[in-house]
Amino acid sequence: MTKNKKRGLIDRLNVGPVICAEGFLFEIEKRGYMSSGEFVPMVSLENPEALLNLHRDFQHAGSDIVQAFTYNGHREKMRVIGKEELLEPLNRAALQIAKDVAISPIGEEQNLMAGNISNSNIWNQNDKKSQLEVEKMFREMVGWAVDEEADILIGETFYYAEEAYIALKVMKETGLPSVITIAPYGENIMRDGISILDTCKELEQRGGDVVGMNCHRGPNTMMPYLKEIRKALKCHVAGLPITYRTNNDHPTFFNLPDNNGCSCNTPHETTFPTALDPMQCNRYEIGQFAREAYSLGINYLGVCCGATPMLIRETAEAVGLKVPASKYRENMENHYMFGKNKRIPKHIKDYRNKA
Ligand SMILES: [Zn+2]
Repeated sequence: MTKNKKRGLIDRLNVGPVICAEGFLFEIEKRGYMSSGEFVPMVSLENPEALLNLHRDFQHAGSDIVQAFTYNGHREKMRVIGKEELLEPLNRAALQIAKDVAISPIGEEQNLMAGNISNSNIWNQNDKKSQLEVEKMFREMVGWAVDEEADILIGETFYYAEEAYIALKVMKETGLPSVITIAPYGENIMRDGISILDTCKELEQRGGDVVGMNCHRGPNTMMPYLKEIRKALKCHVAGLPITYRTNNDHPTFFNLPDNNGCSCNTPHETTFPTALDPMQCNRYEIGQFAREAYSLGINYLGVCCGATPMLIRETAEAVGLKVPASKYRENMENHYMFGKNKRIPKHIKDYRNKA
């Protein structure tokens, strides 16, 4: 196989797992290149090397898809921060950076570059004008993605069913494979009153190539819905949870109380988004989610907010893949105290229960 040979998304999904890293917002913020709360992906213009590095790190960890970081990079958000004139440059820069990474893979096969649209936050189910505005915003972003030669399109994090339908309609106009994932809030229903399952069924009916869920929910509160979705749909299904321990009382990360002995509370209303760290899933929980999902027939897998390259590697390895970063997977054998290596002195090993 040469570096030019590249299978399409559906061909890949038909024969096995496809891994997609998301969650750039949180990770870029942690790396110091974005303001939390405001969450505008100016990084593609202001610190392009930081975005390139993040994509490369996820690629090294096994992400098959390089998703352009245009989440929140839509006209409305740019208006909120008074920088509407930077909308198109921001989008094109993000798409070009993603493309650069996708066409220079570490292994043999090129990655897929994805254009990206998402929840607009101005959709109003009772206001046709807002809906037309959102459709226009989607259409311009999708247009730039096509210009910059996206291989696929991803519409994600929708909490209004009708907004997801419009996103899918706009994506489908391009003829590119379309991934569409929803992110219902804690009431476990879309904000326009349509059930999670019915929304996904409708998205399949309307031609979504891959339909599923991303963001807002950790493994525990996403999996029950994914099971229903997988059973009911014929198309490929996607599951990309956040990496926090959500539960039935707190199904999303928006109202998750600190349950881990916090001694200095967040100055904000909730632990979201700046004080979620103590509720982080460990890597085994993320791996277990991927393994279970894949065993159910969910082949499009990834991690959203809270994703790190380590967790992407964990996801890939959980479904049987070996990725470049597998070279550096855990090796406790050689740990100076907990390892079994015969060179580790007995007096060090024997002390481990008191360490
Ligand atoms: Zn997310």
